[in-house]
Amino acid sequence: MSERIGVAILGSTGSIGVSTLDVLQRHPDRFRVVALTAHQDVEALFQQCLTHEPDVAVLADAVAAERLQERLREAGRSIEVLAGVAGLERAATLSEVAYVMAAIVGAAGLPPTLAAARAGKRVLLANKEALVMAGPLFMAAIRSHGAELLPIDSEHNALFQCLPANFASIGLAAAGVRRMLLTGSGGPFRTAPLAQLADVTPEQACAHPNWNMGRKISVDSATMMNKGLEVIEAHWLFEAPTAAIEVVVHPQSVIHSMVEYQDGSVLAQLGNPDMRTPITHALAWPWRLTSGVAFLDFARLGKLEFQAPDFARFPCLRLAFTALEAGGTAPAVLNAANEVAVQAFLDRRIRFTDIAAVVEHALERVPTSAAEELAAILAGDSQARTVAARWIAARTLEV
Ligand code: NAD
Ligand code: MG
Repeated sequence: MSERIGVAILGSTGSIGVSTLDVLQRHPDRFRVVALTAHQDVEALFQQCLTHEPDVAVLADAVAAERLQERLREAGRSIEVLAGVAGLERAATLSEVAYVMAAIVGAAGLPPTLAAARAGKRVLLANKEALVMAGPLFMAAIRSHGAELLPIDSEHNALFQCLPANFASIGLAAAGVRRMLLTGSGGPFRTAPLAQLADVTPEQACAHPNWNMGRKISVDSATMMNKGLEVIEAHWLFEAPTAAIEVVVHPQSVIHSMVEYQDGSVLAQLGNPDMRTPITHALAWPWRLTSGVAFLDFARLGKLEFQAPDFARFPCLRLAFTALEAGGTAPAVLNAANEVAVQAFLDRRIRFTDIAAVVEHALERVPTSAAEELAAILAGDSQARTVAARWIAARTLEV
């Protein structure tokens, strides 16, 4: 039993975190939960501690961490409780931890995910925002510290599965890759009348037709900013030129992405839309394990459909391409403004259609610079948040 692989989950109370625990529980002989972390939900992390018995539990919020410590003491559990960003980084770098599931949502995930890379861990990356903000820096950290990077985002996990094993060392061109086709469902508003988009509610935006996810990524899927972030993510993960990344709308979410080769072959990865498949793939790689996901029934599926993306309906997708072209800290600005705008929409302070306006405004206003240093990235992130918040405050006063 001592050879079990130690796993830390950053963001264990979220949608990806819970799915990861479900998979780990199916393979107690192979994996051991060493650390669980969350933002401030004491009760949820307490319950996970009782069930999964980690060595360490972290809440980013210090007051919440104190309450968790009390709860665990009362329950007679000797689990070390840590707090803050330092606690998250500690969980990601513990020597007992070999694999780190990076499943915090948003820019908050960058510091501990980067710490995991610098500690040479196998990083299972769900937190796409970290890579969008700090792509070159993050990839360099993975390489120079001998870490492994396995994509959890279903599209990137699919691309990874469709690429030859040596793609990272030889490059996509030498591997014969012509295009990477990122599929996206188009979200809940793919066919809604355009005039109605200004009035959609957070509940409608979060009701994704195929996937059950956290609220931020659900809104991102509705604006298709999620696909835009994924284009940037694919660019850094696979060193893919922007011109070689294409978005294909595929409403059924059964093909998770495809790689087209020079000889005309297209390799696709298919499966039911359940994140436990990519999570299990990354945990087991290069082997395979059971995941609990139902198997595909093609006769019941019937048909798979495809469309070109509609940039007029989904301006956020266009803005992501703009930010990627601009380079430097522009993707960090895009990401930060989007995080602020999505939160304001969820809080009913702005309209759904304002999200793209906020992001566009931030991209125009915030000067960008090279993104080689973390300080420059964090400065771009913080300026974008200020500019976005100002736009939102002005708009809220008008309403
Ligand atoms: P979620 O909102 O369900 O969970 C987020 C987790 O992060 C929670 O455990 C929360 O406590 C923690 N967290 C939030 N803010 C934090 C902070 N400031 N400090 C520390 N911890 C914090 O989100 P999710 O849907 O699980 O998504 C997580 C990440 O995975 C996102 O980056 C998302 O884009 C990506 N992802 C999710 C899915 C999916 O199906 N849910 C699919 C692909 C990629
Ligand atoms: Mg995805």
